Amino acid sequence: MVLISCKNCHKVYEKEDYTPFVCDRCKYKVRKRKKNSLQISFALVISAMFLYIPAMVYPIMDITQLGVDNESTIIEGIISFLDYKDYFIALVILVASVLIPLIKLVGLFVIFLSLIISNKMENRTKLMIYKTIELIGKWSMIDIYVVALLASIVQLGELFSIKGGLAATSFTLVVVLTMIAANSFDTRIIWDKKENDGK
Ligand SMILES: [Zn+2]
Repeated sequence: MVLISCKNCHKVYEKEDYTPFVCDRCKYKVRKRKKNSLQISFALVISAMFLYIPAMVYPIMDITQLGVDNESTIIEGIISFLDYKDYFIALVILVASVLIPLIKLVGLFVIFLSLIISNKMENRTKLMIYKTIELIGKWSMIDIYVVALLASIVQLGELFSIKGGLAATSFTLVVVLTMIAANSFDTRIIWDKKENDGK
C-alpha cells in the first residue's frame, strides 16, 4: 500500500502502487511525480535570468522631450516619470517590471538550486519561498498589464512611446518563462529529497 496525494486538490489516496489514476474529487490526473519537473523548471528559470539582463539593459521606451527623441531603458523610464512628478506610475512600473520579476526569479532559483545540490536548507523554508512566489504569481499578470497600460497612457501623452524590440521581447519572455517554471514545478519533490538523505 502506498499513499499518494492529488497535486491539484491535495486529497490523499491509499493505493496498491503508483499507477496514475484520475482524482475522483477534482478529475485531475494523479501521477507519482511529474517527469523531470525539477530539471525543466530549473532550465526555464536560468533562461529567464539571462533574458532579464537584456530586458533591463536595452531601451524599452522612446521619450520625446521638446521634440527630441530619447531612447530609455526601464530604469531610465522610471527616473523620467519621477522627473515629471508621476510618482504613482513610477512606483507601479518599478514594482511590476523590475522587483516582482526579480524576486520570483531569485526565489525559484534558490529553491531549485538547493534541491539539486540537496543542501541543508529546511524543507519548510523552501516551501515557504515557493508559496510566496505562488502568491506573487497570482499577481504576476500585473507585469503584462503594466506594459499594455503603459503603452496606452504613454501614447496618449505623446510624450513617451513604448518601443517594441529586444528589451520588450526579452521582458515578455522573462514573465512567461517564470510563470511556466513555477507551474511546472512539483512541490512534492521538496519532500522527496529528505527521505533520500537518510539512505
Ligand atoms: Zn484532486
